[in-house]
Amino acid sequence: MTADVASAVRNLQESLRAALTSDIVLTDRAEMLRFCRDWHGDVTSGAVAVLRPRSTAGVSAAVLACRELGLSIVPQGGNTGLVLGAIPDQPDGQVILSLERMAATRDIDADDFSAVVEAGCILSELKEQVAAKGMYFPLALGAQGSCRIGGNVSTNAGGINVLRYGMTRELVLGLEVVLPDGTIFNGLSTLRKDNRGIDLKQLFIGAEGTLGIITAVSIKLMPNPNQVATALLGLNSLNDVIALYRRARRDCCDLMSAFEFMPPLAFTLAREAMPDLPLPIAGDYPAYVLMEISGSGLVDIPDLMERFLGGVMEDGLVIDGVIASSQAQARNLWLIREGMNEGQAKRGPHMRTDISVPLSRLADFVRDAEKAVSDALPTCVSVSYGHVGDGNVHLNVLPPSGLPADEVNAMIYKAKVVVNEVVDIYGGSISAEHGIGRLKRGDFEERLPSPQRDLLTAVKRAIDPSMVMNPGCQLNFNDIS
Ligand SMILES: Cc1cc2nc3c(=O)[nH]c(=O)nc-3n(C[C@H](O)[C@H](O)[C@H](O)COP(=O)(O)OP(=O)(O)OC[C@H]3O[C@@H](n4cnc5c(N)ncnc54)[C@H](O)[C@@H]3O)c2cc1C
Repeated sequence: MTADVASAVRNLQESLRAALTSDIVLTDRAEMLRFCRDWHGDVTSGAVAVLRPRSTAGVSAAVLACRELGLSIVPQGGNTGLVLGAIPDQPDGQVILSLERMAATRDIDADDFSAVVEAGCILSELKEQVAAKGMYFPLALGAQGSCRIGGNVSTNAGGINVLRYGMTRELVLGLEVVLPDGTIFNGLSTLRKDNRGIDLKQLFIGAEGTLGIITAVSIKLMPNPNQVATALLGLNSLNDVIALYRRARRDCCDLMSAFEFMPPLAFTLAREAMPDLPLPIAGDYPAYVLMEISGSGLVDIPDLMERFLGGVMEDGLVIDGVIASSQAQARNLWLIREGMNEGQAKRGPHMRTDISVPLSRLADFVRDAEKAVSDALPTCVSVSYGHVGDGNVHLNVLPPSGLPADEVNAMIYKAKVVVNEVVDIYGGSISAEHGIGRLKRGDFEERLPSPQRDLLTAVKRAIDPSMVMNPGCQLNFNDIS
């Protein structure tokens, strides 16, 4: 940063402190660091300031102050996003607006099966509060101890329960949003049915902070599934995983709440992150499934799981399996799935994807994409796993250890190009659930047909004509004439 730029930034910081109560404005570099670094620690940026308002009116005041000073705004929830949407890319002209101080629960209504919560509420805390009232909020993801509901809505997060309950979009009843001109859009309805014209809240779901700042959310709740059966299964191939899924849809109906597949390497990676993690299956199988069925009321879930597994093992579709006999055992099974993510992070920078393809083609896709990677990068290791019921696979590529950073980066780039080519052949999506952020903007733009691009640009221009909201995220609207 040149002396001139540094002095301009100091002036902006002073002006922000003058315009807003000073405890809302963070400018100390060390204090700002946790907001400016991505979850994997791959990217560290900066910001003119981090603003932490305590109320919707405070968010509106912060937006107006930023507009006045010509600053653009990067909203941030729990900063667990995996596509660099919440990290500034122009530290001298952007502020981070963190929702972490807006975490109150405004209402939980047992009759309506709904709740109204502020955007900064941490997902796991929201789930606990709802459970304490005998209800269930089904959004569930590995980052739930840190991500915040406003971030979940802004990314339209998926997670492990999508196959039964849908993506976040399907769980949202209403939104309160501070628009880019500081106006408050109050759409916090809890109505289940409301067909009064175009449903405007949908514009902000999955917008990754490019159209406004979500300050509160009304959500759908479900009956608490007080019976849960979790099983880890060993299978002979990914084709068998798909066959098992088909069978489970038929036999377990809508009671199946999760169906994840993992490669054998999952156990090694999980143990690298959590050395004491117990390994529940003795043998070594080409593919594993972590499956959960759950329900409330009069159905007998443990019996259903046992009968289902008895049938598929008798038919040779499942070779080995274990059903968790306690909540602690079920938790350990899920730790394998979560630990494999951490294990990959521990191996250093690697290529991560978030792909969806039609479920019927998932096994072929994984075979072809892994082959394309091993042909192009024979020293790298592919790890494919994911939410199989949604056709969602995370095919990640781990470079060998001990290489210089520029060689690793070149491998990551090459792996991405190779895998994306196969995604295109299969008519898939390069972002099934994580969004676009800044990381996937180029790949998104390359694949965006003109009518879609024109519509997105028109929406952006209508809501944020000054282009102050999260510039550089999703599309480079500033470059579009
Ligand atoms: C271990 C791990 C596991 C994960 N598993 C999954 C998974 O299974 N499924 C999945 O979909 N994702 C997953 N993720 C990604 C991430 O957790 C989700 O994208 C999550 O929804 C992000 O929430 P957040 O509060 O951390 O948002 P942030 O990272 O803070 O922000 C994400 C985006 O939303 C915008 N934003 C945040 N809050 C607001 C707001 N209030 N108003 C407007 N814009 C806002 C930001 O500007 C940014 O563009 C995982 C991440 C990790 C680290």
